[in-house]
Amino acid sequence: MAKILAVTNQKGGVGKTTSAVNLAASLAALGQRVLLVDLDPQGNATMGCGVDKRSLRHTVYHVLLELAPLPEVRQHSDSGKFDLLPANRELAGAEVELVDQPQREIRLKKALSAVTVEYDYVLIDCPPALNLLTVNGLTAADAVMIPMQCEYYALEGLSDLVNTIKKVRANLNPRLEIEGLLRTMFDPRNTLAQQVSDQLKQHFGSKVYDTVIPRNIRLAEAPSHGRPVLSYDRNSRGALAYHGLAAEILQRSIDLK
Ligand code: ADP
Ligand code: MG
Repeated sequence: MAKILAVTNQKGGVGKTTSAVNLAASLAALGQRVLLVDLDPQGNATMGCGVDKRSLRHTVYHVLLELAPLPEVRQHSDSGKFDLLPANRELAGAEVELVDQPQREIRLKKALSAVTVEYDYVLIDCPPALNLLTVNGLTAADAVMIPMQCEYYALEGLSDLVNTIKKVRANLNPRLEIEGLLRTMFDPRNTLAQQVSDQLKQHFGSKVYDTVIPRNIRLAEAPSHGRPVLSYDRNSRGALAYHGLAAEILQRSIDLK
């Protein structure tokens, strides 16, 4: 059965999509069977995998509204060697259209349950909001990965997210855990970043991944070529960092067994 990880942070621009796409590709490169779910109407993960979001007949929107079955909507990302459940701006309407529908929080969970035997990892790229889409992601997930930049306000935002996780755990998904906190766009020469990083370790201990993602221009360039960084510049610092993260996650799951 797949381990389902929701990549979440209600703040935009912290590296959720970059982490979801590149972790998916790195896990796949290590032999894991991976499904990446784009749950953001911006469709950045979809484009980053080389799938044109404007040309899609069916997306995760149709899956959530039960208009199309997931196996017919997923696509294979050749550039990343994993499967993708794509999204585009149509998904923005799901929030409103699901409001008076039954079981609106567990739509993604239900849809994924039909395919989890086919994968080792399902990664969900959540939108930058604590909305119904994110709640669907958190309800479907076994655990949450939180990418964050080590800035002054980062810790403040984390407490809102931790409260949302607690609420979802109490009402919808008792097994939801925090899998880990990922420091992104990290600059070790920046003293504030170091301080925030230290505070993070004090609060969350071993939940903070040892792997740190540096600021690396290759990571920012790769999406415009529709590729994960691994197939764009495999020796870049960004590619090596996400490879390291994938290895750390696999090692952790072995240690837990
Ligand atoms: P989110 O999904 O949280 O909104 P993104 O992954 O889209 O964040 O990242 C925001 C911007 O920062 C994007 O332009 C992305 O290419 C860039 N970016 C993300 N991580 C890095 C990094 N480690 N180094 C350089 N640029 C990065
Ligand atoms: Mg994003």
